[in-house]
Amino acid sequence: MLRLVLVVGALLSLASTARAQGMLDQVDLSSPAMTTAEIDRPALLEKLAAVPPGGRADLTGMRLSGLDLSGVDLSGAILRNARLNNTKLHGARLDGAILDQAWALKADFSDASLKGASLFAAQLVGARLAHADLTGARIAGDLTGSDLRGAKLDGANLSADMKNQSMGLMRAILKQAKLDGASLKGANLSRVMAEFASFRDADLSNANLASAELGGADLTGATIAGADLDNADVTSTRLLNLKGEDSARNMDRLRNATRAFRNSAIVKPLPVSEVAAGVYVFQGQNQLMSEANRGAIANVGFIVGKRAAAVIDTGGSVAEGRALLASIRQVTAVPVAYVINTHMHPDHVFGNAAFQSEKGVRFVGHHKLAAALAARREQYLAANARLIGAKLIADVRIVPPDMAVETTLELDLGERVLEVTAWPVAHTDNDVTVLDAKTGTLFAGDLVFIGHLPVIDGRLTGWLAVMDRLAKLPVKLVVPGHGPPAVPLAAALADQRRYLERLAGDLRAIIKQGGDLRQAADSAGRSERDRWSLFDEYNARNATAGFAELEWE
Ligand SMILES: [Zn+2]
Ligand SMILES: [Zn+2]
Repeated sequence: MLRLVLVVGALLSLASTARAQGMLDQVDLSSPAMTTAEIDRPALLEKLAAVPPGGRADLTGMRLSGLDLSGVDLSGAILRNARLNNTKLHGARLDGAILDQAWALKADFSDASLKGASLFAAQLVGARLAHADLTGARIAGDLTGSDLRGAKLDGANLSADMKNQSMGLMRAILKQAKLDGASLKGANLSRVMAEFASFRDADLSNANLASAELGGADLTGATIAGADLDNADVTSTRLLNLKGEDSARNMDRLRNATRAFRNSAIVKPLPVSEVAAGVYVFQGQNQLMSEANRGAIANVGFIVGKRAAAVIDTGGSVAEGRALLASIRQVTAVPVAYVINTHMHPDHVFGNAAFQSEKGVRFVGHHKLAAALAARREQYLAANARLIGAKLIADVRIVPPDMAVETTLELDLGERVLEVTAWPVAHTDNDVTVLDAKTGTLFAGDLVFIGHLPVIDGRLTGWLAVMDRLAKLPVKLVVPGHGPPAVPLAAALADQRRYLERLAGDLRAIIKQGGDLRQAADSAGRSERDRWSLFDEYNARNATAGFAELEWE
């Protein structure tokens, strides 16, 4: 007995949870002091009956392990340091009871009422608290592996604030528990199973929610300042009106974060059209990227297989990427296994971060894409911050490919194989196309512009050469990078070829006559002006790039 008291004393003074767990292992839990009772049920009831009205039963340090005390009224009882291991307290009344430093390993408190009870430094490992009423209770104890299914903990304080002696709620089962308004400040809720639990307006500041299972839980109005949500599962979790979200850690890496309900509304899906069976395209606007269009100026899309889906380009902001993911979820539940970026431009890659939470997702791009993005990272972020604004740019992460395409790469989506082809320098030096053999649909990226003036950020002559090869592909439909969602191959290339050939012809003539760069910028390709949108924004730049290239022919 003396040894145990010393051990318990040592346990309470420990500073580290890990060591506390170690001490628990050292306590002889099979000793009579921990497993037996010094009194039987009738004798205890007699003792309780002798307490004068309004008084408290003093059961300090009593050994009550293994007793069946179901339904007993222990309201206000002082059970400090008591042994309640394996004790049955099903439906018992413990309102206002003091269970500080009590041992209640595997005790059954299910359906018990513990309103306003104090469980400071209590050992509740494996305890059953299902449907218990812990309203306003203070539980700074170890609830590892305990079951609080359906428990009511409104306003309860479960904060791990006792210098880490408490292991909090780590791995506890809180399924469907009601923790509305509960203070869980600094609580360790890592790996807690809290599916469909309600944490409305709860204080979770600085709580550890790493790998917590929060599927279907309601965190509306909860405070999560400083909380760590690393790899928490928030599938269908309500994350509305959160407070302190800015300082929460690993919010952006939340598994399935995009499937949570956030910011007062479910993410509105991008309107997509099914251009061929299982092939979906959102048509970007022929504009420059702006806050108003949230960067949604390029065509983006996805292809659905039996086992997986592939995304082709993610749009000009994470907001657009999330909306694209929302439209995928309207069509299919299969995971997004691949995110293919057709090339480096921000309107095609800035939404990548929206897909990072998809389990096992691979980012696919041209073997030169990673270097191209690395070289332009700062410039892209700064320039586009001015276009789409600080708020949208804040979420943007430059996510490089982790699967590089050297020549061609086949991606199997389950009864559907995509062929990704890397091209020589054309629109950029890192263009790929994606061919869905099943429907003969080619996602051409910005190798094909329709309506929107083609933009040269690679090599004019190279692009014309690549177009010759595209024209020979076994393709029925082309999804251009900019323009209508899909057009027949024959109609896809004509306008762009005419413009690029006219530009090249004008430039060669200027060079032959000894003209300079200014002249090229002012006049080359001008006869095409009325045929394209965004001509004034891009033609002079194209002429300048083309001039530098053709000068050395
Ligand atoms: Zn583009
Ligand atoms: Zn582009």
